[in-house]
Amino acid sequence: MTQILYSKPIVDLEVGELKKAIQALNSPPKLKVILVGSNPSSKIYVRRKKEFCEKIGAECEIIRKNDDFTPEELKTLLKEINQDDSVNGCLVQLPLPAQFDGFDFQELISPQKDVDGFHKDNIFSIYKKTSGEFLLPCTPIGIIKLLEHYKISAKCKNVVIIGRSLIVGKPLSMMLSNLDATVTLCHSKTNNLRALTNQADIIISAVGEPRFLTSDYFNDSKDQIIVDVGISSMKNNKITGDVDFENVKDKVNSITPVPGGVGPMTILSLAKNLVKSAQIQRTNKKA
Ligand code: NAD
Repeated sequence: MTQILYSKPIVDLEVGELKKAIQALNSPPKLKVILVGSNPSSKIYVRRKKEFCEKIGAECEIIRKNDDFTPEELKTLLKEINQDDSVNGCLVQLPLPAQFDGFDFQELISPQKDVDGFHKDNIFSIYKKTSGEFLLPCTPIGIIKLLEHYKISAKCKNVVIIGRSLIVGKPLSMMLSNLDATVTLCHSKTNNLRALTNQADIIISAVGEPRFLTSDYFNDSKDQIIVDVGISSMKNNKITGDVDFENVKDKVNSITPVPGGVGPMTILSLAKNLVKSAQIQRTNKKA
């Protein structure tokens, strides 16, 4: 019987832990989310982040800016947020409008407030395999937590990751390598992707192409583990993943659903990073 890797049991468990951690702080941690423009999916994502923060007793302020907001204005705003000791975490919701193309705002958020885990100092901690006061990127750490919860070890496994973005595929490839997995990082120029996915123990897809991983991408062993990161909005307002779930699910050992799989793990990781950043900032203040 295929195991469906739902995130709900993990989120339910962690909400209690996060509430306790927040009670142990002097004041609720505070997140600022910058939303530029009117992308409908972005509006939904920031609303979910705010709702989750409020559920665990944290504060979240959404700062809305029009489509004509400029990189210089964002730079000034981030400087103010970095200097504001009452703010523990900050993120800029992606995607940004075209005028931000090539503008590296991620380096402008203080690494201690970088709850998305995109700042080079935080990414370098993965590269160097250091642990401690670092904030790890939310989707990759959420995927690792989900696998751990279901007692799926990546150690010595062949893992194929499809998609090499800075927010999912690249950091995840390093993090899984640190966990002793053998990782193949695939992308749009990869030759014969089917042959690679057919030989993998764990397949993680972050492409954004609805149902492109059809059943022929998987072998008949019924041993494979599938993690579907993709989120595509369909005409019927439903969302779907990269995997043709209905036709694949009976062919594999375990699979994440979309929705209800990786997405909530990303928001959970964000909340955990916010609490961690507040704890780090409090410790640094005392020192
Ligand atoms: P992206 O959109 O920046 O890049 C897509 C990647 O897919 C690229 O590396 C590209 O080379 C690769 N690709 C495209 N077509 C391919 C093909 N035919 N074969 C193999 N590789 C191919 O990536 P992203 O920002 O990581 O987003 C990917 C998807 O994951 C999107 O649907 C996004 O909405 C979703 N996402 C979900 C979460 C979550 O929490 N569930 C978080 C982040 C992103």
